[in-house]
Amino acid sequence: MQSRFARILTIAVVSLTVLWGIKYFLFDTSPVPESSNYEFNLDEIRAVARSQPGALPLELRGLLVGESTFPDSAAVAGAGLFSNRDLVFTSYQAVYPDRSVIIETAHDRSIHEANFGTEGFLDDAYDVMQKAMREAALIVITHEHMDHIGGIAQSPHLAEIAPRTLLIRDQINGPTIALANFAEGALDQFRDFDYERLHSPAPGLVLIKAPGHSTGSQMIYLTLADGEEFLFVGDIVWHMDAIRKLRGRPRFVSLAFLGEDRDRVAAQIRTLYDLREMQEASNGRLHIVVAHDAEQWREYLEAGLVQKGFR
Ligand SMILES: [Zn+2]
Repeated sequence: MQSRFARILTIAVVSLTVLWGIKYFLFDTSPVPESSNYEFNLDEIRAVARSQPGALPLELRGLLVGESTFPDSAAVAGAGLFSNRDLVFTSYQAVYPDRSVIIETAHDRSIHEANFGTEGFLDDAYDVMQKAMREAALIVITHEHMDHIGGIAQSPHLAEIAPRTLLIRDQINGPTIALANFAEGALDQFRDFDYERLHSPAPGLVLIKAPGHSTGSQMIYLTLADGEEFLFVGDIVWHMDAIRKLRGRPRFVSLAFLGEDRDRVAAQIRTLYDLREMQEASNGRLHIVVAHDAEQWREYLEAGLVQKGFR
């Protein structure tokens, strides 16, 4: 018969093992498949980008609208539980000879303070972005989450910009757009728009359906006249490490906060990993843009790939 001590020890070991297993499952792993079933053909995307008549954009400009910090472990499964990373909320401006296109619109101060803290929101930059949105020929976003669509939802110029803002049906009808707090009836002002798999709304620009992180998620490809290429992947990952290490967000974050389709996101991570490998091997000029990765944001500015501030 087991001694009382042995019984207590057995219970302790079993409990710890179960707890460790739960932690491992919820926080430490986020498997990515060996091969992707997400359809992504770079040659096809490049051809679609060049199917529109007109000059290609001359430069890509970036604007920092807000900053915050974030636990490492929420972005990349198995990362340090107690370390933080900087988080950026940005907007981009593709500058053509005759027009400009805005990609991503971050959010306003009310959304920032309610979700990302009372510090770090840049009011002047937000005003610059709103001015640029009024002047833009086109506004597109990677997905309908409040920190990407918030600059549209909370825009003081919504009626003016809505006709030039391309929101797809799955963004407008997605369950998470509610958090952006559009005014009653405001979504009726956008034109009904949708596409199959790929669509080019302007020279050098391609929208690429990528549901998973949200129902209305899409990647946005942009090629400049000088041959630099960008792929805005929104929040498929929150940090480039998730692509480099082939490890997505922990299950806990996906299940508790996002309700995302993890299988689809995992396949897209594999696609982006393979794409990055191919680019590195061939000295390619395609740069993946991860929406909230502060290190990558600084790196692209320093390398002169993205110009600081809007025109
Ligand atoms: Zn986001």
